[in-house]
Amino acid sequence: MRTLRRIAALTLLVTAPLAAQSNLERMTNDQYTRSHDYDLVHQRIELSNISWDSLSFDGRVVSTLVSLRPGLDSVILDAGHLLDIRTASAGSTELRTSRHGDTLVVHLGASAAFGDTVRLTLDYRAHIDNGQGLTFKKAEAGHAHYPQQIWSQGEDDNNHDWFPTYDFPNDKMTWEMVATVPAEYTVVSNGTLVSDTKSPGGHTVTWSQEEPSATYLVSLIVAPLVKVPDTWRGKPVDYYVYREDSALAMPLFKVTPDMIEVYSQLTGTPYPWAKYAQTTVADFFGGMENVSATTLVDWLPDARAYQDRPWFQYILIPHELAHQWFGDYVTTENWANMWLNEGFAEFMPGQYWGTKLGRHAEEDYYLDEYRQFMGIDARRRMPVAALGSNNIYPRGALVLEMLKHRLGAERFWAGINRYLTDHRFENATSDDLRQAFLDATGQNLDQFWDQWVYQAGYPEFTVSQSYDASAHRLTLQVKQTQVDTATADSTGLRFTTPQVFRMPVTVKVGTAQGERSVTADLDAREQAITVDSVMSAPTMVIFDDGNTILKKLTFEQSTAQLATQLQQDPDLWNRQWVIGQLASRPTDKAAGAALARAARSADYYLTRAEAVAAFDSFPASVALKPLQAALKDTSAAVRSEAIGTLGGVRGAEKDALRLARTSWDRDASYEVRAAALGTMIKLDSTHRGALIRQGIATPSYRQAIQNTALSAIVRYPGSAPATEIEPLLGEQQLPAYLLAALVRRGDTTAMGILVKHLDDDRGWVRQWVLNAFRNGLPRPVATSALQPLAATLKHDDVKKGVTELLNMKDRNQ
Ligand SMILES: [Zn+2]
Repeated sequence: MRTLRRIAALTLLVTAPLAAQSNLERMTNDQYTRSHDYDLVHQRIELSNISWDSLSFDGRVVSTLVSLRPGLDSVILDAGHLLDIRTASAGSTELRTSRHGDTLVVHLGASAAFGDTVRLTLDYRAHIDNGQGLTFKKAEAGHAHYPQQIWSQGEDDNNHDWFPTYDFPNDKMTWEMVATVPAEYTVVSNGTLVSDTKSPGGHTVTWSQEEPSATYLVSLIVAPLVKVPDTWRGKPVDYYVYREDSALAMPLFKVTPDMIEVYSQLTGTPYPWAKYAQTTVADFFGGMENVSATTLVDWLPDARAYQDRPWFQYILIPHELAHQWFGDYVTTENWANMWLNEGFAEFMPGQYWGTKLGRHAEEDYYLDEYRQFMGIDARRRMPVAALGSNNIYPRGALVLEMLKHRLGAERFWAGINRYLTDHRFENATSDDLRQAFLDATGQNLDQFWDQWVYQAGYPEFTVSQSYDASAHRLTLQVKQTQVDTATADSTGLRFTTPQVFRMPVTVKVGTAQGERSVTADLDAREQAITVDSVMSAPTMVIFDDGNTILKKLTFEQSTAQLATQLQQDPDLWNRQWVIGQLASRPTDKAAGAALARAARSADYYLTRAEAVAAFDSFPASVALKPLQAALKDTSAAVRSEAIGTLGGVRGAEKDALRLARTSWDRDASYEVRAAALGTMIKLDSTHRGALIRQGIATPSYRQAIQNTALSAIVRYPGSAPATEIEPLLGEQQLPAYLLAALVRRGDTTAMGILVKHLDDDRGWVRQWVLNAFRNGLPRPVATSALQPLAATLKHDDVKKGVTELLNMKDRNQ
């Protein structure tokens, strides 16, 4: 057994003048919290006489609230301007209302004193701007997998478009949802199902949310659904899907009770709500964590799709479930701290998979977050705790994973438990989270919060090594090269990037005699870290062992050192960094050999897949053998990477085409077959058109195969005419966008098809085509095509959309 000894690090402050940092003033974001002069306690929300034709219903909302100021003479509610208030009353007293846009003022007959309870009833006819708060979907003949339905979406502040409420997250309430709908529809909402009784309109369903939560989490779904029941510790865990999907529900959702159990144990906080429902609906943007009643898109994977680790089960289900603690149980106090909802929800699935499948599964998850983070940060650099931050998901997840590395799992979860306990059924800010960690662990994390929560960016390290054989000493020169280039916005707000990130880092050195580790404090733009007692030249040098820092790394190393690390370092981030270095050495035989070894025998599929992908810059003589071997890998992701990479290896075209044909014919995975088709289409120009047609006709989950074929029409001009795409316009949105792409290239046939289908008798096809004009074409191209048509269009919905589009142009001129 080898003991890692902590050796005092010699830290040298070299040059680099530090720019002044104004961190004295903490950005707590408290200024974004809304003031209110009452506490909304409870609402009973009733809906009846719902009309899909006129997008309207009769509403009645009874609100109970407590005055938070002396002499409260009016109650200000958020109520969409399309809610037609018919009467307002308190008991038998009718009340006067007035309105300013989306603000409804209810004038109380008599002023309420501080602490007085007020009960108000509002009767109204709601008209819905479809998609604002409520979305109505109408069934249409021929539109498959698309039953008539209604679903709500409150976040951030759209629930007041269908019922008057307090529409900001910092006032929690309990509520009842009472909906009268035709007999064939199921009603799903928050909390406990209280009753479901026959009534003149069909049936009346009452749900009761008995623990307080935020009003943006009020949910209503009305759709013809079947319930597939499950349980966790005796609580109902229900999956609501279309009848035609009922066989797909259990294979997809059966992970849920186990996820609830794991989250309950990790947080030390048992799932806090009466039940958990997951309901799938049409055209949803993903998922929404409505309290105890999550809404999800209706993309249930089929049996074969599980070979490709569907996003729905891997990320979507555990993400929305995590919100039941982070977002619903403890809620951000204002939208500037939204990462407390989204960062945690994005963080938790990695904890679930790590708990179930081990450290590689956990690292795999955060490596994907890292790549997303880098893409977003490159577009605009923002901290997580900022209003409208673009990076609350991956950066939030990565900051929490870093904190877990810093504290260790035991202290980390103790801090999380403290946070959830201290703010249960209430709100929190970023600073409340810091305080919870201080209270639970005694650790002052002020500097961590300052760097990672309130400021932006990440350290960019340039590391160089020198070994002194006579002194047996390895010295690393470590520079932080990140540059703060952000400019202030119109309000003077500027997000800073620290000149120096301060934190511990561990350097691991491998030698013929064994390994040594040193932990040093990073605290300067430029510093040296020395490792003593390195008895022979290092065979491997790992900067940031265990990848505990969100960073970019530049570190010149020999191929031999990289090859050793690729074999010995268990960390997946470090491995992918090494693979990136080796991939840039295509003429180096040792680099090819190291990658081939990893592609064949690395102990985790992701490393094998990354090693496989690295061969696209290597000559056929080096790449062909390992890629061919990878086609037999047990992981579909590795096979898919191999067949895609083969298509790009110069000099291997003949073999690649033969191998791709075999994968296309025999592989069970949709993704592998899609990649194989892509390679065949690329390499076989003679049969390209036939291959595209074959791909178009091949069903797969989320049209993975069809979309590869369709994209090829655009990628390879002349491969297939636009008319091949036309029959698919009713099946999915992509074909309309592909036609737009062909139009951009000057294809007049494609434009003719698009124009023709603006008059399509199928409403959804008209909308998809209209979307392609709106989002798939440059505005001048779209308007010059639409201008002469505007008067002749057959259908009102498209007329309206085209007029809007043409007016948009006028405003821009
Ligand atoms: Zn979320």
